[in-house]
Amino acid sequence: MGKYVVGHQNPDTDSICAALTYANLKQELGEDYQAARIGKINAETEYVLEKYGVEAPELIEAVTEDDKVALVDHNELSQAVTGIKAAELTGIIDHHRIGGIETGNPIYFRNEPVGCTCTIVAKIYQEQGVDISDEMAGLLLSAILSDTVIFRSPTCTAEDEKIAKQLAKKLAVDIEEYGKEIFKAGSVVNKLSPEELIQNDYKEYEFAGETIGVGQLEVMDVAVAEPIKDELLTAASNLVEKNNYKFLVLMVTDILEEASLVLFTDAAKEFIEASFEAEVKENEVYLPGVLSRKKQVIPVLSQQFE
Ligand code: MG
Ligand code: MG
Ligand code: MG
Repeated sequence: MGKYVVGHQNPDTDSICAALTYANLKQELGEDYQAARIGKINAETEYVLEKYGVEAPELIEAVTEDDKVALVDHNELSQAVTGIKAAELTGIIDHHRIGGIETGNPIYFRNEPVGCTCTIVAKIYQEQGVDISDEMAGLLLSAILSDTVIFRSPTCTAEDEKIAKQLAKKLAVDIEEYGKEIFKAGSVVNKLSPEELIQNDYKEYEFAGETIGVGQLEVMDVAVAEPIKDELLTAASNLVEKNNYKFLVLMVTDILEEASLVLFTDAAKEFIEASFEAEVKENEVYLPGVLSRKKQVIPVLSQQFE
């Protein structure tokens, strides 16, 4: 029989840090819960755990009717650990929409519309009068900076900012500097091939019988794309040929500057020129304020096909 605090599948920094800190808080309060995870630790989270000298939660495959389970950073059973329906669900701490959950008994269920689960966990420490160790403070702060994209995400609230600033002060951490370190550590740019970078977050669209490909790469600074621009364009042209596309567009989106450097194959040039008021170079254009493929790029491109 185990007692676990566990985040969602394909865990992000919030899921891992919320599991570790909430399990720690429960232990401080005399409950022997342990943190668990149900997927691989990503590069960003690995950096955070190393920074604060905390071991990754135990990897579990499934839970059974003998286990007690508290969920963090999710509440939809489709995202949860295998066997969750059989196990005893004892609590949920989350900041996502509520997705059709049912329990046999009343549970501690805390959902708040904030930017990060760890903001809620930090509040529970405070409410319970439990001191937050530096290790746990580091995890809480890291998750908040990650989930809120250093307060830039539209999901970020004044409460996330307030808690993060308290934690950063306690740790004597510069928020902006440390936040950027976290995102740099998690960046895929140095880890994937040009073709993989294009297809890492990638969609095909059909307009007027033609197919186009649009990839998006989120980065901390578009400068990271500079040295590999030619390689990206070559890989893009190869994909166009292989898949018989009209053209391919890659948005390299700078999440801090809130702008995109858009790289594109030759045939896209007239479409891009007609779609955006910007200085369009041979195979690239810089678009301030453009972050969303779905809302800001696809609709304007699709108009040009009509
Ligand atoms: Mg999450
Ligand atoms: Mg989260
Ligand atoms: Mg996230």
